[in-house]
Amino acid sequence: MGETKMIRKIAGKARSSRLGFKALNYVFDSKITETALYKKLYFKKIKRTAKLHTDVLPKSIEIGITNVCNADCIMCPHRHLKKMGFMNMGLYKKIVDDAVSCGMEKVSLSFFGEAMLDKDLEARIKYAKNKGLGVSFFTNASKMDESKSKMLIKNKVDNISVSLDSPNKETYEKI
Ligand code: SF4
Repeated sequence: MGETKMIRKIAGKARSSRLGFKALNYVFDSKITETALYKKLYFKKIKRTAKLHTDVLPKSIEIGITNVCNADCIMCPHRHLKKMGFMNMGLYKKIVDDAVSCGMEKVSLSFFGEAMLDKDLEARIKYAKNKGLGVSFFTNASKMDESKSKMLIKNKVDNISVSLDSPNKETYEKI
């Protein structure tokens, strides 16, 4: 085994140990992630990893347009998030453009948040559809009404997954 491979193997083991995990959490929570050196090393790693997988690039992407949610489900890590907000349109468009230029075909607009709380949801759907992407998202459906349903149909959203965590009223309300 070459020296670099050996170092990577040791680093991988250290990372997955309990102490390594704690150390990584410390780093990710600190200001270190905002330094130029960290960003340089981070993007170098992303580029290196992407190069290794050019033949198996994914066809879909998830964009967390918001981490704001009006629910507080017991199993969701959402309550532990420290910063809440909505993604600005400039960044959203850039990610969609990059995804299209990488050959992606679908976008899901959910990640630890309720997409239907986003006032820009329609504009985001239109932008992605105009770029040829299939659009989907998860929702707790609490904000679904006639006008929103019509908007989703009009814009030809491809797939909506409604999270209903129990068919039993009492259990559902507990969750
Ligand atoms: S609705 Fe979804 S995002 Fe919101 S708290 Fe429940 S599981 Fe989390």
